[in-house]
Amino acid sequence: MSSSDAVLAGLDAELGWVRDAYTELHRHPEVSRQEHATSKIVQDKLAAFGCAVHRIGGTGVVGVLVNGDGPTVLARADMDALPVTEGTGLPYASTVPGVMHACGHDLHVATLLGAAKLMADGRDAWSGTYIALFQPAEEVGAGSQAMLDDGLVTKVPRPDVALAQHVMPLPAGTVATTEGPVLSAGDSLKITVHGKGAHGSMPHMSVDPVVLAASIVLRLQTVVSREVKPGEFAVVTVGALNAGTTSNIIPDRATLLLNVRTYDSQIRLGVLAAIERIVKGECAAAGSPLEPDFEYYDQFPLTSNDPSVTARVRAAFTAHFGPDAVHAAKRQTASEDFSRIPDAFGVPYTFWLIGGADPDAYRAAAAQGTVAQDIPANHSPFFAPLMDPTLSVGVRTHVVAALSYLADG
Ligand code: ZN
Ligand code: ZN
Repeated sequence: MSSSDAVLAGLDAELGWVRDAYTELHRHPEVSRQEHATSKIVQDKLAAFGCAVHRIGGTGVVGVLVNGDGPTVLARADMDALPVTEGTGLPYASTVPGVMHACGHDLHVATLLGAAKLMADGRDAWSGTYIALFQPAEEVGAGSQAMLDDGLVTKVPRPDVALAQHVMPLPAGTVATTEGPVLSAGDSLKITVHGKGAHGSMPHMSVDPVVLAASIVLRLQTVVSREVKPGEFAVVTVGALNAGTTSNIIPDRATLLLNVRTYDSQIRLGVLAAIERIVKGECAAAGSPLEPDFEYYDQFPLTSNDPSVTARVRAAFTAHFGPDAVHAAKRQTASEDFSRIPDAFGVPYTFWLIGGADPDAYRAAAAQGTVAQDIPANHSPFFAPLMDPTLSVGVRTHVVAALSYLADG
């Protein structure tokens, strides 16, 4: 019997409480940095499993299971929910107005807790150190940095490898991995451009920031279409444009909120430079009286999977789930802050995807080419991963991936 078969022999007996933990978390979602009740549930469970429990970075929790000589594996889950009003109608739907686990982080917590329990109970079958890390505030790109700022690197053993997963709108029961970039780098940018206010009837007295901002929005559309090499990936979205209060006043400023996604650091720097150049150029063309202000926030690092770790974990997944259940992941345009943790330790990592969508509905939509319309994706008010088999798969992926590195017991 392989070590993962031995550890997973106890899975069916654990799925009841894993399901209860999941529905409890789903009913009581907590937004970024406010994961207090979630953190308490995680701490209590990890302590009950026999892990050494550390609170790091506000609501962050790390459970460490030292089990003899051997490699150290760190597995990470994120814990925060989103300011979304749930529309699923599920019996375990959110009871918190305007807050929902719309990205599946409740499922990440429940499955990593399940894996930690099995690793603790199955410690005769493996040797080494298993670290289950529960991170706050992923959605705002701040939680992993908060844990690092609070001394994560010195407070827990240095891992040899780091692992993380995300539930996505892929068929439930499937797993998807890829080498190299899997999630984009993300940058949010607040730009303030300055004009000169005047009465709406006297435009000749103004420098109109509304016209200036409109022209910036249009010109920014050329960054990806004209400056990024065809076939390379970049997204530049103007998500908000605000200026003025009423029809007969020309305001004195406009603000734009931009979102930028890239897979390549050179392309990222080129896109950000092009944005600044265009904004400054348009301000000069408009006769803007002040330089524009650029404020970067909610920045996410690139998630780029180590090829050899990914190959090893994929081989373990294929052996466990069978080749039909393990797919090549397409690069996602979404972003994550997980990679800051392995990068801070200087260790390789892999980040894989697990499906949560109804497989029949997914295949029907795929046959019609309407997956994007018909299958609710992460952050949708209708995002609702199937509990079966997704919870079981999510526990098994964590155990199988960890045991592909840990020594046999
Ligand atoms: Zn999310
Ligand atoms: Zn997420």
